[in-house]
Amino acid sequence: MGDGDHTARRNIGRRAVLIGGTVAVAAAGLAAHDQLERWWWRLPGQEKPRRPGEVDYREAQWSAASGANWRRADRPDDYVIDRVVIHVVQGSYATALRVFRNPAHGAASHYVVRKDGHVAQTVRELDVAFHAGNREYNERSIGIEHEGFVDRPQDFTAAMYQSSAELTADICARYGIPADRTHIIGHIEVPGADHTDPGPYWDWDRYLDLVKQALSRNPGKGKDPGKDAGKAPA
Ligand SMILES: [Zn+2]
Repeated sequence: MGDGDHTARRNIGRRAVLIGGTVAVAAAGLAAHDQLERWWWRLPGQEKPRRPGEVDYREAQWSAASGANWRRADRPDDYVIDRVVIHVVQGSYATALRVFRNPAHGAASHYVVRKDGHVAQTVRELDVAFHAGNREYNERSIGIEHEGFVDRPQDFTAAMYQSSAELTADICARYGIPADRTHIIGHIEVPGADHTDPGPYWDWDRYLDLVKQALSRNPGKGKDPGKDAGKAPA
C-alpha cells in the first residue's frame, strides 16, 4: 500500500547522505573519531553499524532468530517505534527460541522473557520482527514474548513481571514511548490480530505499575547511560 514508493524515496535519500557523510568523516580526521561516530549514527537514513551478538538491552542474552523471521530495517530512523507489544508463547522459553531459529516459522519477537526473569534478545530493535501479524504494527513496535500459556496464570511469575517491566521501561525510556495502555498493548489489541495473547490473566495494572516504577527509578537506563546522566528522575 504505497510502501514500495516510500522505500524507493528513502533509498535515494540514504545514498545522498552516505556520500556527504563520507566526505565529512575524511575531512575531520582521527582525533574527533569517537564524537563523529556518534554523530554518524544519528544521521537520518544512515544505516547503523552492527556487531555480532550485540544486544539493545544490556540485561539480555543474544540468541539469534532466523533471518527469515524478521526484516532488516534501520529503526527508529526509517520507522518510528511507538508501541511495545506483549505476547505469551503458548509454550516454553526454549520452544520460543527454537521456533524463532526455524526459518519456516515465519515469526519472531525481539525478546523472550523466561519465568525466572531471564531475558533473551532474538531480533535487533533496528529490525522489523514478524510478531504482531500486522505489517504497520510490526514496523512501529517491539515485541516481547513471555514463557507460558494464556490460560495458566501461575505461569506469569513475579520474576517475569518484574523483569519484563524493566525491559519495557528501558524501551520506553530509549524511544520516548509513554508508559500507558495506548502504547503498551497486548497482541490481541493489534488491529486484525487473530491471536488472543497475553490473555485474561495477564495483570495489566500490575505490569504498568511495575513499568512506571522502573522508569522512575532509572529514567535514562538504556544503551547510552551517559545520555541522561545527572537528570533527576521524572
Ligand atoms: Zn502473540
